[in-house]
Amino acid sequence: MASEAKRPKVDGGSTSEGSSGDPLENFLRWCEKVGLTLSDKVYLSREGTAAEYGMLASRDIEEGEVIFSIPRTAVLFQSTTKVKAVLEEGKTSLESVSGWVSLLMALMWEYTSPESYWGPYLSLWPDLKALDHPMFWSEQERERLLQGTGIPEAVDKDLANIGREYSDIVLPFIRLHPDLWDPEKHTLELYTSLVAFVMAYSFQEPLTDDEEDDEKEPNFPMMVPMADMLNHVSNHNAHLEFTLDFLKMVSVRRIRRGEEVFNTYGEMANWQLLHMYGFAEPYPSNSNDTADIPMSNVYKAGVEATKSKEDQRLLVDKWNLLCEMEMVGEKGAFIFGQTGVLTVTELYNTLKVLGMPAEEFEEWKENEGWEEVQEEEEEDEEKMSRALSMEALPQLAPAWRRLIQAAARFTLASYRSDLRADQGLLEDGEAHARLSSREWRALQVRYGQKVILHKLLELTQ
Ligand code: SAM
Repeated sequence: MASEAKRPKVDGGSTSEGSSGDPLENFLRWCEKVGLTLSDKVYLSREGTAAEYGMLASRDIEEGEVIFSIPRTAVLFQSTTKVKAVLEEGKTSLESVSGWVSLLMALMWEYTSPESYWGPYLSLWPDLKALDHPMFWSEQERERLLQGTGIPEAVDKDLANIGREYSDIVLPFIRLHPDLWDPEKHTLELYTSLVAFVMAYSFQEPLTDDEEDDEKEPNFPMMVPMADMLNHVSNHNAHLEFTLDFLKMVSVRRIRRGEEVFNTYGEMANWQLLHMYGFAEPYPSNSNDTADIPMSNVYKAGVEATKSKEDQRLLVDKWNLLCEMEMVGEKGAFIFGQTGVLTVTELYNTLKVLGMPAEEFEEWKENEGWEEVQEEEEEDEEKMSRALSMEALPQLAPAWRRLIQAAARFTLASYRSDLRADQGLLEDGEAHARLSSREWRALQVRYGQKVILHKLLELTQ
């Protein structure tokens, strides 16, 4: 267990008594008041960190040490906000697709109320306009920099949902409670910024195995002071553990003095980091990076391989069956990571069905072989995963390789530039230095995806 300092340190040393105009010092005093304890081996800083605030080790930390511990009472969500009674009473009318509206209503109130209990915490981010997720870029900029990455489509969906949620749920609720919210102050603009804030700063408690088995809905998001000061890298050295009364940041390996304490926000590809958190890890450091091949591109690859009307009819039959089996869907994607495909069952069965000669397919369909596929799913997962690992791709049946090859080719054609152009930008020091922050982040996302897709082209030749 880490030893706990009485007064947490700021910027490697200075401590203070009494009130101060410094948001960080005010926050640390508040932490003490709410029972949040911090190891004396770390300090918060805006210097020497990956981005703005972050946590640095002032002494070596061993694996398994508790770096800080937050009582559940110091976590902000719909049951700990001042407006909890109103939110509880209006629970049904606040239900939404995202499941975030109650937290967002709470944040709108707490963020704009001078008397908020959470003020010293939320004052760390006085200007939400500093958030630079792609949802704040212009549509043209998203298309120019991110076409092909999947981000423009995800953002369009987010913006449509946010607009709908605000006008259909939030605004009517605001009008019902003019003593707490005001449409002039709690605008769609503020709501959208808070959505981005929740995307980048909130935590979701993972479901237990039993809850997963019971197919329980995911837990609602919550704001976790101190934990949300930590930056993320795929090669992280700490993670958040959830116990009955506390949330604890625990080191997962030794952290040397001077190193930044990095949390994990999950196994996030660069496109997900940029979409949800507004940043990307520099290529090639994100070991969780992935590239998506839209399922529709595998269908297109199937169409390209047909030679007759009969072949085309057979392809449509096969695709319809795959839809019925829930192996493919209109908007779905096969996901490829560094070592192989992550959507194993879906891709394996798709290739298997598309690669079947007509008679075999008819027989398999008649004998309801596809129902067995669904039952055997789990047992076969390992075998399928091995067959679709990057190193095994060259040994796949030629028809399967051709499908992956063509689908990767179609996917690469959906970007605005090719791999070489992006490689040029990365390797030409001067051009690289001239990139704006948005251009730089978009480049890391695009390039990582294209490298994976090119690897697929090579391995399926
Ligand atoms: N640095 C944040 C701050 O000062 O408010 C605290 C972490 S907050 C949970 C998440 C945000 O930190 C992200 O939206 C992103 O802006 C930034 N961030 C986290 N990890 C990062 C990294 N490795 N590189 C760049 N920015 C990062």
